[in-house]
Amino acid sequence: MENIGKNVEKILNKLPEGIELVGAAKTKTAEEILEAVKAGVKIIGENYVQESERVIEQIEKIRLQRAVENNLPVNKNEYAIKWHFIGHLQKNKVKKVVKLFDTIETVDSLKIAGEVNKECEKTKKVMPILLEVNSGREKHKFGVFPENVENLVREISLFSNLKIVGLMTMGPWEENAELLRPYFRETRKIFEKINLLNLSNVQMKYLSMGMSNSYRVAIEEGANMIRVGSKIFGERRYQ
Ligand SMILES: *Cc1c(COP(=O)(O)O)cnc(C)c1O
Repeated sequence: MENIGKNVEKILNKLPEGIELVGAAKTKTAEEILEAVKAGVKIIGENYVQESERVIEQIEKIRLQRAVENNLPVNKNEYAIKWHFIGHLQKNKVKKVVKLFDTIETVDSLKIAGEVNKECEKTKKVMPILLEVNSGREKHKFGVFPENVENLVREISLFSNLKIVGLMTMGPWEENAELLRPYFRETRKIFEKINLLNLSNVQMKYLSMGMSNSYRVAIEEGANMIRVGSKIFGERRYQ
């Protein structure tokens, strides 16, 4: 049995100021997520739309139940969780993702950005997005190649219901986090370059890099948002 609360405390205690911790919660239950939230995690990242729909609904149920039991006002967002979509975004899931999530970290094409923008227009929402950079230039992986990020930013910045707030990258899979350093560094350089362009609808606030085994290296290379799963929740039960 994982001690989720303790795991979160350990991470938060050592985290430099100004670094946002995203709890990457794929395959985890509402109860497990709430344990992390109670210990101080404010942002939860989810990869799968159906799973997150279930979990968000479940958390809402738990919250309402507690509110009734304790005579609390039911409209208060007690847990105040910010939901980040960190999975691959497909066109047929855009509607749900726009409805359920506060930020999308994985926009990687003009086409999908256009779909999100269209859905946001309908629902009168402005969606903060990060562009996913395929920093390893791996053909079978998602994300925009480093040399194409600036162009994509310029194009997406014309959509009035999107706000580009940063970049996200995974990097190739490496057991040894040191080997990810060049990929994190290159992504940071792009982040800084885009920041200097001063485009409207673009504000480079978040550089989301690093997972359980690599977030220390990522922070050294400039990450201010890290996505941590197994180090908080333990090993995953599937996928
Ligand atoms: C699962 C996942 C993580 C967290 O991975 P861990 O190695 O368990 O920390 C981070 N980012 C994304 C996009 C993920 O899918």
